[in-house]
Amino acid sequence: MTGWIDTHCHLDAPEFAADVAEVRERARQRGVVHCVLPAVQVAHFEATRALAHQFGDSYALGIHPLYVKDALDADLARLDAALAEHRDDPRLVAVGEIGLDYFVPELCASPLRERQEYFYVEQLKLARKHGLPVILHVRRSADMLLKGLRAVGQGGHRWSGIAHAFNGSLQQAQAFIDLGFKLGFGGALTYERAQNLRRLATELPLEALVLETDAPDMPPHWLYATAGQRAAGQAQGRNEPGELPRIAEVLAGLRGLNLAALEQQTRENSKVALPRLQVASASSA
Ligand code: ZN
Repeated sequence: MTGWIDTHCHLDAPEFAADVAEVRERARQRGVVHCVLPAVQVAHFEATRALAHQFGDSYALGIHPLYVKDALDADLARLDAALAEHRDDPRLVAVGEIGLDYFVPELCASPLRERQEYFYVEQLKLARKHGLPVILHVRRSADMLLKGLRAVGQGGHRWSGIAHAFNGSLQQAQAFIDLGFKLGFGGALTYERAQNLRRLATELPLEALVLETDAPDMPPHWLYATAGQRAAGQAQGRNEPGELPRIAEVLAGLRGLNLAALEQQTRENSKVALPRLQVASASSA
């Protein structure tokens, strides 16, 4: 198998409602052989799963911190039940997208701060219970995420998964790597001003990296509409999985690597992060 893996895209998002099949086909034509679709709320579990099956892709089930506000305690039981129900589905590769967001002010203050921390820890327990990796949303929250992983992982549990859209320090990156994680990089590193992120993506061992678009969000610079352009009526650019190879070219350039080597190594890394991915990829070939 050759080709790119987009380890994080939200094809179930409303932005893709009108043309999701075209979007996925365009990605395929550009060499993206596999996508991982993380759910963000219980109401989307079935849609996300159906899309993964429709396109020969993989999916993850979880409650995203930005959706905790509208989530019920019973949603944790529904996640538990869905993970049990689909345990033999080789396309179910992780619990995600889960995590903590300390960028959105409302989520930093009581009661949503405690609420998102509760949902994060409870979902880590479910990942451990079901023996699945986790796909983590990290936004100014690396240290608290690490604390949760250590607490729930006590007694020798071996985590795996992806710290998605990672943008922390080298030291925090190393802590995730030590716990068994790969770090996801995408459109954000296409901006020349993203110097810290670019340095991180260049200095980390190649074995630690996976690629992702986070589509429809995180547009690379060539799709980005500035505040001025938006004020003049232009819509913000929609990211899509077909942008992954061009984002990868930027990373290859930064690291002075040949594109084929980056493709091969990030594909291997994705399979280490999400061990069931291999099964899903093989059966979709
Ligand atoms: Zn996401």
